[in-house]
Amino acid sequence: MLQSHIIGHDTILNFLDTSLKTDRLSHTYIFNGQRGLGKMTIAKYFATKLICKNQNIFVYPPVQRSANDCQLCESIMVGVNLDTMILTKAEDKKNISINEIRELSLSLVTKPVLGQYKVAIIDDADSLSLEASNAFLKTLEEPYPYIIIILLTSKLRFLPSTVISRAQVINFYPVSIDKIYGFLIKNNFSPDDALNIASLSLGSPSKIMPYIGDPSKFDQYKDNSFKMLGILTASLSDRFQISDSLLGFKGLGFNEALSNTQLFLDTLLLILRDVILLQNHNHQAVSHRFMLEQLERVAKVFPMFKVGILIRKIEQAKRDLYSNVLPSLVVENILISF
Ligand SMILES: [Zn+2]
Repeated sequence: MLQSHIIGHDTILNFLDTSLKTDRLSHTYIFNGQRGLGKMTIAKYFATKLICKNQNIFVYPPVQRSANDCQLCESIMVGVNLDTMILTKAEDKKNISINEIRELSLSLVTKPVLGQYKVAIIDDADSLSLEASNAFLKTLEEPYPYIIIILLTSKLRFLPSTVISRAQVINFYPVSIDKIYGFLIKNNFSPDDALNIASLSLGSPSKIMPYIGDPSKFDQYKDNSFKMLGILTASLSDRFQISDSLLGFKGLGFNEALSNTQLFLDTLLLILRDVILLQNHNHQAVSHRFMLEQLERVAKVFPMFKVGILIRKIEQAKRDLYSNVLPSLVVENILISF
């Protein structure tokens, strides 16, 4: 049921469909837009349309079907296809290196094995090192006719203009809450939960996927959010106790502690955003609808200027995490800052 995971982006799908049907494909596409909108899913889906002969007509809305219907398409979607190269930046690296680009370029030299096209998808394309970009430009300048390159980025401005000028740029925007709500209803969520989850997604389909696989995770998210909201009005010692119960750093490896902390900070930011919205009497846009009453109580007593300070602190904390500051230290700094 891989295709059923595409939510929204109808205009983009139609555009790609038309380019394919009318034989007006670009050699290079840039999918630009914030993280979590489904750029990688659509890039892979486009690759299935380019490579698989079973379905050379881009059907949209995608027909829900079993993943086993076409093994070739499935191999593309799960990232093990011979003619689809996917390059992603390693989590512990700041850049995609020139060696990785050379390897990719080499694998593009041989003709496709399965169909008419070879597809190269480069995620975080803005993190190509300068040398890697230059090496890559050579591939773009003299493309083999069978190569389609899809660059994914959330920071178009960081791509060299020489790359942008050779590509078809496609901008991705947040998906409407209605579309996401409809998708959740189709996946058997109650209207109440569907509305709550859709509001939390802020238009980002990837944010709802964990709940599709395991609806009980949403109950867990709700519990954690209540606890996190409690931090804002708790005494200093209680703040530490609550964050310990949420993060439980003891016994965690660095990567796990890091991803828990990222999630913690993102959720806290979203909660603070709700507090600001309520302080400005904008109830409609609140994302944690399931705890509206509790949020309203906090919004009344938590000074607005402190929310601002805390948001800036959390944004700094996210940058600190990126520069390898210990997650426990990052959280501690937040907890003592208000
Ligand atoms: Zn197929």
